[in-house]
Amino acid sequence: MSRNRWWLQRGALLLFAVVSGLQAQAPAGSLVTAIRSDMEHLAGSELRGRGSATHDEYLAASYVAAQLHAIGLRPGAPDGTYLQQVALPDPLPAAIQQRLAAFEAVPRTVTWNAIGILPGADPELAHQVVLLTAHLDHLGVSRATVTQPSHVYYGADDDASGVTAVLALARNLASGQRPARTVVVACFGSEELGSYGARGFLRQPPVPLQSIVANLEFEMLGRPDPALAPGMLWLTGFERTNLGATLAAHGAPLVADPHPQQGFFQRSDNLTLARDGIVAQTISSFGLHTDYHQPTDTVARIDMNHLIQAITALAPPIRWLANTSWRPQWNPNGKP
Ligand SMILES: [Zn+2]
Repeated sequence: MSRNRWWLQRGALLLFAVVSGLQAQAPAGSLVTAIRSDMEHLAGSELRGRGSATHDEYLAASYVAAQLHAIGLRPGAPDGTYLQQVALPDPLPAAIQQRLAAFEAVPRTVTWNAIGILPGADPELAHQVVLLTAHLDHLGVSRATVTQPSHVYYGADDDASGVTAVLALARNLASGQRPARTVVVACFGSEELGSYGARGFLRQPPVPLQSIVANLEFEMLGRPDPALAPGMLWLTGFERTNLGATLAAHGAPLVADPHPQQGFFQRSDNLTLARDGIVAQTISSFGLHTDYHQPTDTVARIDMNHLIQAITALAPPIRWLANTSWRPQWNPNGKP
């Protein structure tokens, strides 16, 4: 990164910090305002669908980084900033190149993670970590053809909704009394290409991986799942651990994934952690809607009340998880 770019980045971070700092002082209702503004910015036209490992993804990561700073989290990237740069393989695997042929022809050499840390307040429990994750990239802009103009794939549900949820939960955890356990917030780049951001995070984690007591990933919570009762969310691998049931007992609107045939537990970013023995599961309300990976996955189709209700309902049980000494466990035969 050039010096000029560094200063530009710092400038953007400061500007965002000032703007969000004002927001943070706003009275009750500011959480809702933040949810709306995060959704509209991340899935808005300026970020052009946050194409994996593009400049648009970098802008999305910078925005999330600025929010983490404004919330008061410590930087979690290996170089002491909020932005972790992860190199992509060169060349990219042939299957990925083939998929990318339908999208804008731009160099894709690095991807970006935005990472923040809320240090635990309890000296006994601060070395135990709750990891909250989502992915900040999406498909970006398609390549125009003779018959087709280019389209922006906004990825409002996938996964601007998850990033928005993680930021809102971070705001909630950082306000009021600081939780006993350490909370790490990580938004990954290039999930859509094959979890390159998450893999880079695992190679250079901000905390020892074995200190993570639970990883909750947030994916596609922007619309209710018609297979569930209103306001409910599902957790991948619900029956594999006692985390879902325990969070539900503390008020989380969580049930088992009603689409087991989709194999969401195996398809998620957190499978690598789960294979290492760490309880790592995804919260979602994706009801297999047909806007998945289409240009029509827009903010206009987000059910903002559902998203706000989901985040609001998850905040107390997640605060409980960040405060307790209780450790989630794998159920017999649950570990992948
Ligand atoms: Zn996706």
